[in-house]
Amino acid sequence: MSNTPDNRLQIHQFSALSDNYCYLVHDPDSKLTGVVDTPEVAPVETALAETGWTLNYILNTHHHHDHTGGNLELKEKTGCKIVGSMAEADRTPGIDIMLGDGDKFELGSKMATVYATPGHTSGHIVYHFAEDNLAFTGDTLFSMGCGRLFEGTAEQMWDSLQKLLAWPDDTLVYCAHEYTQSNAEFALTVEPDNNQLIERASQVAELRQKDQATIPSTIGLERATNPFLRPMSPNLQATLGMSGAPLVDVFAETRLRKDNF
Ligand SMILES: [Zn+2]
Repeated sequence: MSNTPDNRLQIHQFSALSDNYCYLVHDPDSKLTGVVDTPEVAPVETALAETGWTLNYILNTHHHHDHTGGNLELKEKTGCKIVGSMAEADRTPGIDIMLGDGDKFELGSKMATVYATPGHTSGHIVYHFAEDNLAFTGDTLFSMGCGRLFEGTAEQMWDSLQKLLAWPDDTLVYCAHEYTQSNAEFALTVEPDNNQLIERASQVAELRQKDQATIPSTIGLERATNPFLRPMSPNLQATLGMSGAPLVDVFAETRLRKDNF
C-alpha cells in the first residue's frame, strides 16, 4: 500500500525515566497502536490518553529493564501483545511474538522489517518501517553515539551498525535515549575537524538549553556526524593514532574511549 499524507504512520514521542524516549506508533488505517519499549507505565498511559489511541502492541528492542519494565502491567491493563527478540525471549517479560533478523512485523497496513543488531545486548533488534522511512533503533544507534557493549563484541556492533547504514539518508532515526549532547561532546574530541559535527553540536547545545528533544535524527545526519559510523574518517583515524587501521579496530578504539570519557 502506498502512503498518502493522510495514512502515514503517526509517531507520538514522549519521555520516561530520566532520559529515555518512548514512542507510540499508530496506523491510521487500522487504528492499531504500538509502543516502542516500556521504561515505565504512567507516561505510556498519559500518552495513550493524550492521543486517544488504544494500545495493541508493545515492541521491545531489548531486554534491559528500562525498556521492558512496564511490559507486564501494561499487558495486564490493556490486553496488548508483546513483541520482542526471539534471542531474548527468556529475558523479555510477557513476550507473545518472537522475531529474529529479517522477520516482518505488521502493524495493520504498516510493515516493519526486523534487524538483529547484537552488541549492546546479544539479542537486540531494531524495527525499520521502510515505506514510512523511519526506524526505532533502541540502544543500538543513538544520535552521535551507539550503545555500550554489554553482551557483544566490537566486531558484532560494527556489523550491526553497518546494517543500518544501508538505509536511505532521509530515514528518521528514533533512538531510546536523550544522550545527544554528551555524545556530541565526545565526538568533538575524536573528530575535531568535522565541520558538520561542529555545527550539529552547537545546534544540539541550543536545543538542550531550551529543554527540547534532539530526536529524531536521520541516517544522513548520523553518517556525517556520528564517530561510531565514521571509522573511515581520516581525521578520526589520525586523532586516534590509527591511520590506515582496519575499520573495526578504529570502531573498537572509539568505543573504548567513549567508555572512559
Ligand atoms: Zn539497554
